Amino acid sequence: LPDAPVFNRLALIGVGLIGSSVARIAQARGDIAGEVVANARTEDTLARVRELGIAHRTEIDPRAAVAGADCVMLCAPVGAYAALAEAIGPHLAAGCIVTDVGSTKQSVIRDVAPHIPAGVHFIPAHPVAGTEYSGPDSGFTTLFEGRYTLITPLPDADTDAVARVTTLWQRCGAMVECMDPAHHDRSMAIVSHLPHLLAFTICGTADDLEDESRRDVLRYAASGFRDFTRIAASDPVMWRDVFLNNREALLEMLARFTEDAQAMARAVRWGDAAYIEDKVERGRKIRRSLLELNQA
Ligand code: NAP
Repeated sequence: LPDAPVFNRLALIGVGLIGSSVARIAQARGDIAGEVVANARTEDTLARVRELGIAHRTEIDPRAAVAGADCVMLCAPVGAYAALAEAIGPHLAAGCIVTDVGSTKQSVIRDVAPHIPAGVHFIPAHPVAGTEYSGPDSGFTTLFEGRYTLITPLPDADTDAVARVTTLWQRCGAMVECMDPAHHDRSMAIVSHLPHLLAFTICGTADDLEDESRRDVLRYAASGFRDFTRIAASDPVMWRDVFLNNREALLEMLARFTEDAQAMARAVRWGDAAYIEDKVERGRKIRRSLLELNQA
């Protein structure tokens, strides 16, 4: 028999890649929530959720979706959080836990915390797992397995609420760690946000080439470009919101990167073979470490 569910009623505000993966896991395991209510921006998405049968109920109005829920998980793009939190705030049940999956944490705290009424717990979180696909069809039950979920509790966070959010993610297969929101945003700027920025930029650079070179980019993509295009296939709204909501940390990492890229350019210009070889060797080492940690 499965353990008792962590929550009686889980309301998912957004059922794309991340929200629909949580819904699928909740449905498959039975020990996450007794009832799952799904909300999205459009009726089309909710109709698809009903066809897929991954929620007990769908609600197009977020206020109706959160009514009576003991856990509300924001799974929409982070730029939508402020308006969503303002809308649902007055409709949250006493004792409810509001959590989220947003890729930025300081902006989420800034946008959501002011709308959380007394007696409701706000526990920000970020599952560090994803793919380049989006929408309710893209979710799957093993998305979070062996991946980290980072929780960034506020200083006065209720320990029982943190423990319940931790249990939810552990039952989703994740390894859970708590950290400071500023630390989270800096780490994500280098491991996720900057790589996406580089991928979007390099695809744009290639696309701006004159006709013949652009054709070659597509024909010979297997030589490295292809790996950038996978990342660059990600959802434009989600990534627009991430860049705009982690501005300081992203700009800092981009400035560091630009300096290092200039140093590499200098080595190429002056034929500094040792410098180039050393950089390539460091890249290989990082890849090997990832493989050893089972994160590749
Ligand atoms: P997604 O597949 O594009 O799904 C977004 C969902 O949010 C859709 O159901 C969408 O509804 C809904 N939505 C959009 N605007 C809304 C609004 N104003 N009110 C209510 N619902 C709204 O996105 P995702 O990849 O699951 O990302 C969701 C969150 O997870 C983001 O905050 C992102 O930063 C975070 N995250 C993403 C990844 C990743 O790799 N993708 C990884 C970790 C965390 P419609 O379909 O009706 O438009």
